[in-house]
Amino acid sequence: MNFLVTGGAGFIGSAVCRHLCANPAYRVTNLDKLTYAGNLASLRPIENAHNYRFEQADICDERAVLDILRRDDIDIVMNLAAESHVDRSIDGPGTFIETNIVGTYRLLNTTLEYWRGLPEDRKTRFRFHHISTDEVFGDLPFDGGMFVEETPYAPSSPYSASKAASDHLVRAWHETYGLPVVLSNCSNNYGPYHFPEKLIPLVILNALDEKPLPVYGAGANVRDWLFVEDHARALELVATKGQAGESYNVGGNSERTNLSVVETICDLLDLRRPRAGGKRYRDLISFVTDRPGHDRRYAIDASKISRDLGWSPKENFDSGLARTVDWFLDNKWWWGPIREHRYAGERLGQSPVE
Ligand code: NAD
Repeated sequence: MNFLVTGGAGFIGSAVCRHLCANPAYRVTNLDKLTYAGNLASLRPIENAHNYRFEQADICDERAVLDILRRDDIDIVMNLAAESHVDRSIDGPGTFIETNIVGTYRLLNTTLEYWRGLPEDRKTRFRFHHISTDEVFGDLPFDGGMFVEETPYAPSSPYSASKAASDHLVRAWHETYGLPVVLSNCSNNYGPYHFPEKLIPLVILNALDEKPLPVYGAGANVRDWLFVEDHARALELVATKGQAGESYNVGGNSERTNLSVVETICDLLDLRRPRAGGKRYRDLISFVTDRPGHDRRYAIDASKISRDLGWSPKENFDSGLARTVDWFLDNKWWWGPIREHRYAGERLGQSPVE
């Protein structure tokens, strides 16, 4: 089975490529534009694998994508290419519209042209899998409710609005043109190779540097956290076993306030890398002005993917976070250059996103 993974040099896409390449029956082409968020170092474990290849390309480039689809005889497209950082979408929404909406539109068009040329038996088995977020559903009250697949869309940020628009386009290409699509909407991912501007790696690395640990507002916002390797397994199932036209919610069953996430990281670091003079990492926590449109709570009901595809997360939040902290402690070769060189001059270190 031949996969085209777009955005495969990003956080989740690279986990998907590493996961798929472990199966010798799969061949994986990773198509990525290599924006600031793309990092080929995240593919180091598989860069020489016989069943992996990388192509630097833009999903908006229809000619290049069509050539790759045909050359590599693709059976499944998994679309993870996106602008993904909520704070960046507030500062500059243009690239989010360009990649997340126009890019998805162009990728759908190209894939449709390729799919129409396939023999009938392969047409039925083909899948266009669009990876999306629970943020398209908007905001939940603190005291109840969960997102199900039928929850109406109500995005709050330019990022989530652009993802919502792309989800609608994907469904329309199924309803209108018959393209066999599947969608998945998942909660906040965390784990190894997470770009250091996102909350969990930012807090780990700022703590190690004795820098403030920024928390929006009172840190009361609640997110559900999903270990990235559990997500990669879910995505393989959705792409290979999902019903065409269906969407699947993926969650970690691990709701936490942002403050409790930061405090848990501090406590893990106290044990693994104690600060000098008996000081606690929690003393570095610094509360900063909340961001506009900050949704209170996201919570995912993942019973459909569990019931229909037999998926459940292997990691709970405590075990997954411990693995993540240990990975960052052991892998400075990966994050050191990002913190020190590639993003000098950016707001890195002050941007407490989750
Ligand atoms: P990321 O920002 O780490 O990676 C995105 C990748 O896409 C990068 O490698 C980048 O170079 C590439 N890319 C950007 N524009 C491109 C273009 N025009 N053409 C080709 N490649 C391009 O993102 P991520 O966290 O890995 O998220 C992947 C997907 O999962 C996104 O669609 C995101 O909306 C969704 N998602 C992420 C999370 C999360 O917690 N990270 C949660 C839910 C859903």
